[in-house]
Amino acid sequence: METVLVINAGSSSLKFQLFGVAAAGDLQRLVKGLVDGVGTSPRMRALGVDGVPLIDQGYSHDHIPDLSAAAQLAGTWLSERQGFNLVAVGHRVVQGGPDHDQPLRVNESVLRNLERFVPLAPLHQPGNLEPIRMLLQSRPDLPQVACFDTGFHRGHTDVADYYALPRRFHGRGARRYGFHGLSYEYVSARLREVAPKIADQRVIVAHLGNGASMCAIFAGRSIETTMGFTALDGLPMGTRCGQIDPGVILYLMTETGMTATEIQDLLYRESGLKGLSGISSDVRDLLESDSPQAAFALDYFVYRVGLYAGTLAAALNGLDAFVFTAGIGENSALMRARIVENLAWLGAELDPVANAEGRLAISTSSSRIVLLVVPTDEELMIARHTLEVISKDTSGAK
Ligand code: AMP
Repeated sequence: METVLVINAGSSSLKFQLFGVAAAGDLQRLVKGLVDGVGTSPRMRALGVDGVPLIDQGYSHDHIPDLSAAAQLAGTWLSERQGFNLVAVGHRVVQGGPDHDQPLRVNESVLRNLERFVPLAPLHQPGNLEPIRMLLQSRPDLPQVACFDTGFHRGHTDVADYYALPRRFHGRGARRYGFHGLSYEYVSARLREVAPKIADQRVIVAHLGNGASMCAIFAGRSIETTMGFTALDGLPMGTRCGQIDPGVILYLMTETGMTATEIQDLLYRESGLKGLSGISSDVRDLLESDSPQAAFALDYFVYRVGLYAGTLAAALNGLDAFVFTAGIGENSALMRARIVENLAWLGAELDPVANAEGRLAISTSSSRIVLLVVPTDEELMIARHTLEVISKDTSGAK
């Protein structure tokens, strides 16, 4: 069976999924795996169809010193043990820069171009590109496709895209890129299948996971989103601060003597729910805790989702539907209920039974906006894009 491999490489972990390509071009998930602890104590785990465990094995640091080695490990294990005929690899790349609104096939010159965006996403872009570089060298014949988290937002108007800095800074790359685009694109496509009327209307999708953002979508196109230049802006997240007055950063630099690296660490790794609660970045832990700080962190999160719903509803000039997705949005009925309370002014009414059961539609029939829960699937989106790009290349070559 022909297969497409999807790689989502972070800074110290590499997620991979293998999809089988059925005759009609339908994709079937065959393997879902992870190599984590890269740089410390690497471990590979993978599940097969129906969640059957396939491997759970530790490796020495010398054996898997970096992400390239992790990608090689996963690739070798898949080809030796699983024996699938790999036709292409799709990669999640966080930053596609101002011009890439579509996924594209990677060659040396595309890779060099994507390397130019490392300064825009120094924590994520190098890890995303490392397995691409390794595969270009070791398997130059294997088609690779880069899929961008920023691509879905590239159609924004200038007023949404600019910061109010002197214009030359926009040209130098200081603009609002937006992220989680593959998730929003998947959810938009899924809306066409499960709620086709809504798919053409004014929708806010709330991607509430460890990373969290919200997107205003009209007729399937992103028109505004809460993240900007980096994936720090907007909502508070597991460990990221969300929206913050840039004056705070200046204050930290000038008054506390913190270095840029220390501030980066503070904003990306020590803030958000973790920083506010002092307990955990995980909403499950905070919901279980009886600490007032845990309750405060959750109140803060719920309040901010409500604030941004107002902002995005203004960008859409009204609202027809609000969609929950990602870890918190898909799994926590309690958090959804609390967030919907803050959407009452928009006419949202929750059906508590449908919400508790995690149904697709969780609003009452009299609700002025439709409330939905749509599980996201960024990897499937990447696999689809990858197949499309290589099919186009093949048909173009004929
Ligand atoms: P994601 O980044 O989309 O995988 O989401 C991960 C986050 O979802 C975790 O850090 C948790 O905070 C949250 N999460 C997952 N399951 C639940 C649940 N049952 N209740 C509350 N939060 C959850």
